[in-house]
Amino acid sequence: MPPRERSDVVIVGAGLEGLLLAVELQRPGLRVAVVEKRGAVGGRYRVVENEGFSLPIAIHFARHGAQGALGELLFRQGDSTLLRELGTSFSLTDTGVTELPLSIQVFSRTRLIGLRDRLRMMRLIVSLRSRADLAPVEDLDTWMAGRGFSPRLSALLRDIVASMVIHSHPGKVAAREVLESLRRSLDLGVTMTYPVEGWGRIVKSVTDRFLAGGGKLLTDWEVARIECKRGRVQGVVSSAGEAIGAPRVVWSSSPRDLLHQVDDLDPALRRSLATVRPLAATTLVLALSRPVSMTTGLWRLSNPSGWALFPSNLAGGIAPRGKQVLVACAPTMSPQSSTEEVAAAMERRLMEIFPGLETAIEIRRMHHLPRLHGTDVGVGATRTQRPPVAVPSPRGLFLVGDACAVPGLGDEIGFASVQRCLVALLGKDSENLPPPKIDTATEAGSALARKPRGVQPAES
Ligand SMILES: Cc1cc2nc3c(=O)[nH]c(=O)nc-3n(C[C@H](O)[C@H](O)[C@H](O)COP(=O)(O)OP(=O)(O)OC[C@H]3O[C@@H](n4cnc5c(N)ncnc54)[C@H](O)[C@@H]3O)c2cc1C
Repeated sequence: MPPRERSDVVIVGAGLEGLLLAVELQRPGLRVAVVEKRGAVGGRYRVVENEGFSLPIAIHFARHGAQGALGELLFRQGDSTLLRELGTSFSLTDTGVTELPLSIQVFSRTRLIGLRDRLRMMRLIVSLRSRADLAPVEDLDTWMAGRGFSPRLSALLRDIVASMVIHSHPGKVAAREVLESLRRSLDLGVTMTYPVEGWGRIVKSVTDRFLAGGGKLLTDWEVARIECKRGRVQGVVSSAGEAIGAPRVVWSSSPRDLLHQVDDLDPALRRSLATVRPLAATTLVLALSRPVSMTTGLWRLSNPSGWALFPSNLAGGIAPRGKQVLVACAPTMSPQSSTEEVAAAMERRLMEIFPGLETAIEIRRMHHLPRLHGTDVGVGATRTQRPPVAVPSPRGLFLVGDACAVPGLGDEIGFASVQRCLVALLGKDSENLPPPKIDTATEAGSALARKPRGVQPAES
């Protein structure tokens, strides 16, 4: 047995969720170690620096801004990051470009559907507000077919859902979760936001907080085994044979990998993991020599089904002055088509929308984003089918991330699971955490202190 260090909690994976959880656990005084198999932190919130551009390799919106799960976690940690609401979004359909009706106002005047369908949709929105329509457990397409939705209205609703959730077939998303997500967006009046200084700043500030709080961060440290004795977690062992002893281990990587790493895994969890259908995606990142659009909202694409966004129009410092970054992403259930084909198809669609794009491209990057290096995004599963945050067996093992996120893909994605994991780990103590510290010396901090749950409006 190798000599071992000890911690109160070991978190496997230095993605943003693992790091946010680590800082939360430090607040009541726990000794926390975070181990990361790669040489860098951030997990899927990765940014590639190139020729003055800061290129995000995936699109990462924050749902519901300051009022969503990420906003709340940042606020509690005294983080002054501002989340800016996306501006008007658009949809590219066979008939051209139209405004994507993501608010009641746009819905009431959209030309994408006729008057009857508009009234029907307005009734649906009202019933969502009164929670009357949240019972269905079937997928969105089945739910719409059962209610006699017209093909145009169904297509529009699928379009809206596709702009809110990460799924290659929006009609296959659990209807209940989509409707919950829609209702929450309508109630809050905020759907998606983007950090005004980019995701890189959030990753850095959370990491700095963790280290300043005395946290232990080990990179290039891959967990090969979770040790257990008499049904209880004892710690983790790396592929190089190093060991850290701890009575609690949080797994922020793919829960499927647990099948090979832990003995005595709860049989119900083993079954539950079989329902997690991992999602992959293709991302196309374009660094542009000149601006081709000043829009700050989503551009919904079809064939392939995905979306595009100009993050440099929302966040400062992503592109050098006078230049721009355009990111497009198409979720896929499995790598049916090659990354190059999907990326090329997205690029063709974008060229249809933005004249002059072709000659403005300075750098082009394509990425296939499998669940590689990270958690499974569990699609097609409702809340009750997802793996639990606190694993029944072995005791002391917890999960965080997309696979166990509630309430659904379209909502807070994985960040809600950080909050739930915190409660599961700390029990009653989670109610008595110290109050947040906000640095009011900064402009963003003083704005946050004045209006802690506010959202920065989009500029266009
Ligand atoms: C295509 C796509 C688009 C998305 N878009 C959004 C979005 O717009 N907004 C949003 O909020 N969320 C989005 N998500 C979800 C988001 O990516 C996740 O919620 C979040 O990244 C998960 O963070 P995490 O820290 O749990 O996992 P990750 O960021 O995946 O981090 C896990 C870390 O664990 C490390 N690791 C893995 N195995 C081991 C091991 N054995 N030992 C040590 N370390 C290990 C990995 O290297 C990695 O750094 C998207 C997901 C996908 C797939």
